[in-house]
Amino acid sequence: MKNISVIGAGTMGNGIAHVFAQNGYKVNLIDVSENSLEKAIKTISKNLDRMVAKEKITSLDKDKTLQNLSVFSDLKNGIKEADLVIEAATENLDTKLSIFKTIDDYSPENCILATNTSSISITKIAANTSRPDKVIGMHFMNPVPIMKLIEVIKGYSTSQATLDSIMILSKEIGKSPVEVNDFPGFVANKILMPMINEAIITLNEGVAGVEEIDTVMKLGMAHPMGPLQLADFIGLDVCLAILKVLQDGFGTDKYAPCPLLVNMVTAGKLGVKSGEGFYSWAQGTKELIVSDYFKN
Ligand code: NAD
Repeated sequence: MKNISVIGAGTMGNGIAHVFAQNGYKVNLIDVSENSLEKAIKTISKNLDRMVAKEKITSLDKDKTLQNLSVFSDLKNGIKEADLVIEAATENLDTKLSIFKTIDDYSPENCILATNTSSISITKIAANTSRPDKVIGMHFMNPVPIMKLIEVIKGYSTSQATLDSIMILSKEIGKSPVEVNDFPGFVANKILMPMINEAIITLNEGVAGVEEIDTVMKLGMAHPMGPLQLADFIGLDVCLAILKVLQDGFGTDKYAPCPLLVNMVTAGKLGVKSGEGFYSWAQGTKELIVSDYFKN
């Protein structure tokens, strides 16, 4: 595989594009939003500068990485020579089904179609294409350039050849792939999201404040960051969408999203990306400042 097309240039898409470009692949980064594309290139460049400053890569490596990247706002153009397409667009079933219809119609016949979905059924996405054997989940973790894990999700019809190719490729870009089966939330989010939801319920019930809940989980459970801070990093809209998929997919209210989470998303408080969630991120991500709403 040489040519990788990444669809969606948001939080995850820019990280995925960065990692492949840094490993010598030609990457087409595609988004409907010109603004997202501009922001993505700036983010990748800034992250590469940080790596140069830490002497993890040279400035020549940085230049080569950026040269490997092209941006597209037209999906059909961006995928026409792809060996692998990785879809990392908004977590919404209709959006993903429509993207997969186009990439199935316009990408080369042998191209593997992967999705970075956090929770949507790979089998359902695959069933809407003419090549379900070539559809697979590649669930990267945030921030992609740093986190080693990729959950590689085998849909009901994914072929062994597709699975093998993706396991090998994942290792080639320095990641540690783990094979999992296609059930709502896979492994990571089936366990993580109920924990985040429970932290929000705990806050909503007044058991403790934002900092206190996160401190208990950091110091008590040796988590590198608390669940509320992590939710702000993931995006509260993404957390809500995943909980709904778990609730619907397993048919149990065990996964019902806390009403406080629903309210925050409705009010546009999405965490780091909107500047406010449980914490205020208006000053950047260096300092933890509890959002005014939760100060009493
Ligand atoms: P995001 O909101 O930061 O970015 C999504 C991008 O998709 C936006 O730039 C948007 O303009 C673009 N987009 C929307 N519709 C499109 C279309 N039709 N064609 C092309 N681009 C389109 O979202 P994100 O956090 O990067 O999440 C992307 C995917 O990765 C989701 O499926 C999410 O569940 C998954 N994921 C997220 C995380 C995380 O921590 N945020 C972790 C693992 C997986």
